[in-house]
Amino acid sequence: MAQNEMHISFSGLSQNEGFARMVAGSFAMQLNPTIEELSDIRTAVSEAVTNAIIHGYENKPGTVYMDCYLNDNEFTAVIRDEGSGIEDISLARQPFYTSKPELERSGMGFTVMEAFMDTLEVASEPGKGTVVTLKKKIGQDQSQ
Ligand code: ATP
Ligand code: MG
Repeated sequence: MAQNEMHISFSGLSQNEGFARMVAGSFAMQLNPTIEELSDIRTAVSEAVTNAIIHGYENKPGTVYMDCYLNDNEFTAVIRDEGSGIEDISLARQPFYTSKPELERSGMGFTVMEAFMDTLEVASEPGKGTVVTLKKKIGQDQSQ
């Protein structure tokens, strides 16, 4: 069992992206992150939530679930939708791959999540939905 956990669900509306980013960041504050670590977490969570809204639900009504955990110095966020799912996860994770070039997406969401967090896991089933798990240890950055 996690030492501390938090669970929320919210409507898959773009106006909730900032809310989800703030909530995850506020919860992670307990680990006393640097400004940069906090910014990394907020950005990664925001990318995952945006994907759930834009790609998972394609702006149709749906619920986004976010579960956050703190274990020792590690922050975990699990972002889940019950939307369209991803056919080819390894293709989707490639830099610059986007299924929506017409929306001027850059295809860098997963790449950003991977760069800003320690680990990124993507599980998905077409027609069922997607689960993105982000983990980051706080206080590991030796350059700080
Ligand atoms: P950007 O994030 O740079 O605006 P993007 O969202 O297309 O562009 P990624 O976030 O890297 O790029 O996602 C790559 C692709 O993976 C998406 O174009 C989409 O096809 C698929 N994808 C990502 N998340 C989901 C999701 N929750 N449900 C369904 N498909 C998804
Ligand atoms: Mg994206």
